[in-house]
Amino acid sequence: MTLGAVGASISSSGAILLGRRVACDAHKDCRPVRVVTHAHYDHILGLERSLRYCRKVVMTPATRDILQVLRGVDLRIGKVSALNYGERLELPDGVLELRYADHIIGSAQVLLETENGTRIAYTGDFKFPGTPALDVDVLVMEATYGAPNHVRPPRHIIERMFTELVEQQLSNGPVCILGYHGKLQEVMQILFDSEVWAPVILPKKVLEVSKVCERYGMRLGDYIAWNSEEARELIARRQPYIALHHINSRSRIDVDAPRIYLTGWEFRAPVRKISDREYVVALSDHADFPGLLAYVEEAKPKLVITDNYREGYAKTFARELERRLGIPAKPLP
Ligand SMILES: [Zn+2]
Repeated sequence: MTLGAVGASISSSGAILLGRRVACDAHKDCRPVRVVTHAHYDHILGLERSLRYCRKVVMTPATRDILQVLRGVDLRIGKVSALNYGERLELPDGVLELRYADHIIGSAQVLLETENGTRIAYTGDFKFPGTPALDVDVLVMEATYGAPNHVRPPRHIIERMFTELVEQQLSNGPVCILGYHGKLQEVMQILFDSEVWAPVILPKKVLEVSKVCERYGMRLGDYIAWNSEEARELIARRQPYIALHHINSRSRIDVDAPRIYLTGWEFRAPVRKISDREYVVALSDHADFPGLLAYVEEAKPKLVITDNYREGYAKTFARELERRLGIPAKPLP
């Protein structure tokens, strides 16, 4: 199978091109169907242009609702086509489906079965295990943690050490947790399931995203808005509470509280102290290197294209795929 004939590519602007009509996760002129795999900023590139110029903008209902909160626009009208997992969208050159991806709420893989029967898929971002591997001919995939040294301990161990750290910090007062949208709600669920009890204080956007997550079935426990009377009192009295912030947020609630950063780029230890009052926890929403490799082994594609546009190790991973599994692999663009 030569690259020109496979019907999949990645443009210089980061659009994953499937078949002749579909562009995923970035806008591409002359492609009438735009797919948004999930609500993270590096997967909604050129969304305004797509909403203007594409015939259809496809995403799951949860991704649509999260984007509405983050962008402040009404996406329930117009060209947005909310597609549930497994629902089929007939196109002139094939059938498009969104399939479940374990990453943040609403995340999807994209599967296109072309008119000549070729199955092409794009994984979007995903965790593995947790994400069903699609049985395909051509696979376009993320390769964020695509280097052989990107290996993390099992998830349950990281989660347990994370909750222990939070409990330990709460015995001295408030604690601040910083991460991306989606992952913040995931740790709310972890803390709730582990019965870590402390008031949870959320800034506006994080609170609104949390409400959407609850609508789609996540159990997050109780939380209060950072500008509420109750929150102000807790903060003023230095009582124990958990504050959750977006990692790029500049308006931190409490400069004196210890901070826990949630990051996938930590491989030395599940929990690591980086300064007097700062910790990193290796909680990631992405597969590590063995996870990426295991996905490909299950999917058994004839050709793999690794996403070299977004941050990560696409070149290294393509090389390792060829070497370890003997599957032709190419980083693009
Ligand atoms: Zn993502």
